[in-house]
Amino acid sequence: MSTGSTNALIGLGANLGDARGTIIQAVAAIARFEATTFVACSSHYSTAPLGYEDQPPFVNAVAKFATFLAPHVLLDNLQELERQYGRQRSFPNAPRTLDLDLLLYGSTVLSSPTLTLPHPRMCERAFVLIPLVEICPSIEIPGRGRASEHLAQVVRQHVVRLAERDES
Ligand code: AMP
Repeated sequence: MSTGSTNALIGLGANLGDARGTIIQAVAAIARFEATTFVACSSHYSTAPLGYEDQPPFVNAVAKFATFLAPHVLLDNLQELERQYGRQRSFPNAPRTLDLDLLLYGSTVLSSPTLTLPHPRMCERAFVLIPLVEICPSIEIPGRGRASEHLAQVVRQHVVRLAERDES
């Protein structure tokens, strides 16, 4: 981490079109945000959809960045990126071209009308916890202990690690 920057952990999900390609492009686009540097990205995981099940499986990943952007500014940038990928919030748990969640912003705890940190549902989701622990094995979730301690309660969720994609 650069001096004065904050580690931001971002959850990425997609289940329409070339979902893996979209996630790769989205990570590259976030790395181009002002005052933001890429640190790491997890493997891609295939996840059965939650809630509305009549849709393709999701591809999920978690990526880590070091950023000087304030959390609300970072969220605004992430939402703009979602819009560029044409995401429509038609109904809860609907298919989406690209879904971006700000999971953790350093050890910040906050609750505003547009942003809650840590992300309120992250500890219940295998598709968040598994890639998060892959890249940050000992990470603490403020107020909730280590992320790895929550894995046991999500083992029944169907999440499969995908082989690395050949980009050549
Ligand atoms: P969703 O459609 O599930 O991606 O939820 C998006 C909504 O959640 C937006 O209105 C955001 O303002 C709000 N939100 C609150 N906290 C967060 C967070 N930590 N990361 C992303 N969106 C958030």
